[in-house]
Amino acid sequence: MTYHSGRHFLQLPGPTNVPDRVLRAMARPTIDHRGPEFRELTLGLRDALRWVFGTRHPVLVYPSSATGAWESALANALSPGDRVLAFAQGFFADKWVRVAKGFGLDVRVEAQDPRRAVDPDRVADILRADEGETIKAVLLVHDETSTGVLSDVEAVGRAVRDADHPALFMVDAVSSLATVDYRHDAWGVDVTVAGSQKGLMLPPGLAFTAVGLHALEAHVSATLPRAYWDWTEQIAFNARGFFPYTPATNLLYGLQESLAMLREEGLDAVFARHARFAAATRRAVTAWGLETFAADPAEAAPGLTAVMVPEGHDADALRWKILERFDMSLGTGLGPFKGKLFRIGHLGDLNDLTLMGTLAGVEMALELAGVPHTPGGVAAAMEVLVGADGP
Ligand SMILES: *Cc1c(COP(=O)(O)O)cnc(C)c1O
Repeated sequence: MTYHSGRHFLQLPGPTNVPDRVLRAMARPTIDHRGPEFRELTLGLRDALRWVFGTRHPVLVYPSSATGAWESALANALSPGDRVLAFAQGFFADKWVRVAKGFGLDVRVEAQDPRRAVDPDRVADILRADEGETIKAVLLVHDETSTGVLSDVEAVGRAVRDADHPALFMVDAVSSLATVDYRHDAWGVDVTVAGSQKGLMLPPGLAFTAVGLHALEAHVSATLPRAYWDWTEQIAFNARGFFPYTPATNLLYGLQESLAMLREEGLDAVFARHARFAAATRRAVTAWGLETFAADPAEAAPGLTAVMVPEGHDADALRWKILERFDMSLGTGLGPFKGKLFRIGHLGDLNDLTLMGTLAGVEMALELAGVPHTPGGVAAAMEVLVGADGP
């Protein structure tokens, strides 16, 4: 292995860079998870978690990858054979569908241009046409991390309500939370799922499920098997500051610190920072003469940019060159996008110079890998960073 001086650039769209403050917070002795100090810790986390999800209702925390939160959402609120509506948004939407099918749910997957956001009017039309109210849940991925396309949760939530249909609205906010505005209650979301290793700046290992009142009502009569994920048990234990099983104590220390950091920066500033980074990155891509996978800049995710490589070139070969030469990790093309695109993560704990280093690494590697492009993307991005309103 070649020796690399300096720090590794972890510019994946998750896991993201873990701030030193969070690392230090986690480097503390594990405590008794049934004792008073632990109780203090979890009760303190409760309000901060509700704040970041925009809800007054319970936010459950599981020791799990975010995939577990998908299971939590489905298993707790639905019954065997229930019909759910999903859209072919990309790799993560497909994976959620696979979990739903694994539970024996009747999943109706609507075709979807992966380069575009889900159209709220189509959601409304499908629900209006569902006269027997057979659809029990609508699944939507907010930021489809495999494509870098952001759907409008607020508009889809409004479409569900306007259709006057009782389907539960379930949203995967795994890579959007703490990168862009999110309001579980105000947007009529019934279940939100999220994970620790993206905008929350934590290592992988925690999954979140925010549960609204309609979902809790559905939970009472839902009959899919549930045990580890059971909301009733979680909520009862959480109310006393505890968990039904051994929690990931040290990750909770980290969570406490990352939520404090988000509070200090302010969510609006966090969102504005991500929007600037996304705009600067898009400007670089355009200046290189390359194309972002998101077809409409207004639908581009603030946390990552998926970049298509020209026909005849392999995005993974480029990524390897970047890793080898510049010690930087970028996201690969997932599923059908393998080799066709790479993904620049610009979410979580980064600043202007981190982004400039990232884009410089890409521009140098485009040259080294012989990918046809126009130099000057970094300079174009700099113009956005110094021109746009700074923090
Ligand atoms: C990362 C991600 C997931 C999966 O998270 P895991 O922790 O790997 O289970 C799900 N959905 C989206 C949108 C993601 O970005």
